[in-house]
Amino acid sequence: LKTFTKKFLVLLLTLAMLASMLTAFAADVPAKTAKALPADVAADAWYVKAVQYVWQNGYMQGTAAGFEPEATVSRAQLFTTLYRIEGSPAVASASSFADVPAGAWYAKAAAWAKETGLASGTSKGFEGSAPIQRQQMAKVLAAYAALKGKTLKVGSLSQFSDADKIASYASSAVAMMAGSGVMAGSAGKADPTGTVTRAQLAQFLSNFAGAKLQTAYDSKLRPLLLEGAMGIETTTMISALTDTENYRLGQWDYVAGTYEGYPVVVCRTEQGEANAAASTALAMEFFNPVAVIDQGTSGGHDPALHTYDIVLGKQTFDGSAWRSAQSAKGAGVDYKAIEMLGVYAYDAEQKTFTQQVYYPGDEKLLAAAEAVKSTYTQGKIVEGNIDTCDCWNNQVDRMLYYYEKFGSSCEEMETNAVAQVCKSYSVPFLGVRILSNTGIYGESFDWKTGEACQNYTLSVAKQYITSCLKSAPSSETANTGVSSLNSQSYDKTLRPFMIEGAMNAETKTMIAALEKPTTYTLGQYTYVAGTYHGYPMVICRTEQGLANAGASTALGVSFFNPAAIINQGTSGGHDPELHMGAIVVGARTVNYCAWKTAASAKGAGADYVLFQRQL
Ligand code: SAH
Repeated sequence: LKTFTKKFLVLLLTLAMLASMLTAFAADVPAKTAKALPADVAADAWYVKAVQYVWQNGYMQGTAAGFEPEATVSRAQLFTTLYRIEGSPAVASASSFADVPAGAWYAKAAAWAKETGLASGTSKGFEGSAPIQRQQMAKVLAAYAALKGKTLKVGSLSQFSDADKIASYASSAVAMMAGSGVMAGSAGKADPTGTVTRAQLAQFLSNFAGAKLQTAYDSKLRPLLLEGAMGIETTTMISALTDTENYRLGQWDYVAGTYEGYPVVVCRTEQGEANAAASTALAMEFFNPVAVIDQGTSGGHDPALHTYDIVLGKQTFDGSAWRSAQSAKGAGVDYKAIEMLGVYAYDAEQKTFTQQVYYPGDEKLLAAAEAVKSTYTQGKIVEGNIDTCDCWNNQVDRMLYYYEKFGSSCEEMETNAVAQVCKSYSVPFLGVRILSNTGIYGESFDWKTGEACQNYTLSVAKQYITSCLKSAPSSETANTGVSSLNSQSYDKTLRPFMIEGAMNAETKTMIAALEKPTTYTLGQYTYVAGTYHGYPMVICRTEQGLANAGASTALGVSFFNPAAIINQGTSGGHDPELHMGAIVVGARTVNYCAWKTAASAKGAGADYVLFQRQL
């Protein structure tokens, strides 16, 4: 009687579950009759609904022993389950990783996981029988979501008491699993290196089917966007926000919330010009900010400044955007023989990208920064000229030359790239940079400056919000903008091939070769989509320079989801074997400006060979 009752209960539950699944998972449930659950799944177990889901769909198939809810999930089991969810598609080759025998029960799943990029393997190979860790599973499920075109809602890691134990490679995936409700953690812990039971896997997969997705930013007011490159340059600002929501655009993290009663978004740009431009361009489309402040650490150029002094960017420039005077072989390299060329941004009046050396900071933002100057007590605050370059210059004579010749107050790696994007979008911009180090006085990097700069920036933000934004006409602050990523549509059946060129001369021949061309505009960049030899192809005109290439590629990737990208165009020769018209295929590429010099003292000159290392 006992078994009968149990079976009857299971049947009842099965029917109830099926009824609810018909609505919840209608799309996933194949039309087949219900299979009874194995005997080792108790009818009142916490995971019974989840097991029903994977069992009825055949995603997880038990062993002779039953479902084995408490057994540990291996890497092979996880990938096999996902492979089944995908309907066990044909694979190009059954051999994948060296440690996967062709006849292994999971050989096809391993090959599929390799082909789709879900499994890159460990140093030991596929390691099918190794147990998968929770953070590894988070990483795989995040990649699987991306493969399915699902943009999961991102959560905050601060809810986990063991957040510091999460490996950096997995932190954003764990945040995504938490925010989307797929893997909530247990007892306030993420337990990143813990293993996963089969019952838990069933629960995670059932959660995944109904995962919370990232929704559009729905603030009625255009937010103020505050940026920093690294954790030490963003966490203080993030802590000052209330009602926060996390977002992830591309691979960049944003936290949206309220500050002083006004919507504020903090963007972690990551380091360097390309990242700063790409993350800002995506923010422009997604958040439609009313103004932008990029702030953070820098190295001093102006001898009047010391660590903890702050430079307000009355103007910014790209210190790597120069052309040198010609000099012959054997003549050496004079670091002073350069002319600043400037970098390109879209000019709304001229309706084209124009070249400019100095990008002015917005006057109202500057006035707000000036108004709260006295609140800052850790150093002085000056209006100045911020020099952006991906390099770290430790040669004092070069610092002084940049100061004397180009008026540079300090050097860092993001500000002017953000200024370019802001100009392209006609959004007010200000750079605020604290000296975290200055080679002029041998003062080395003090990471606590990151917090000091954020606190001052928060005062500037408060001042700007109360004195400008709250009294601004709604025509300036109302968030009615529609993103260029949403106002146009592109057939996403096949991932296109994207080919890039910076100028008309570098794109027009390719555009002419497209069949059925349609023009798209993302931000201020132009893309022409069509087909080439019957396959979808997009030609992107990146415009010139690192920041534009970074921004236009990030926008192109998020809108077109290309399967592969070729960037092509003109270049100047370095290899003596090459002449005009020779073509270099990039077996690898390097950022020519991302160097760090050895330190050299005042009067020692700036030896161009003293590039200590590529950064
Ligand atoms: N990743 C590099 C440098 C880290 S610090 C390395 O491996 O050494 C670079 C970051 O700090 C950039 O975001 C830049 O904006 C800022 N920065 C601070 N001082 C700088 C300096 N003297 N020169 C260039 N960038 C500086």
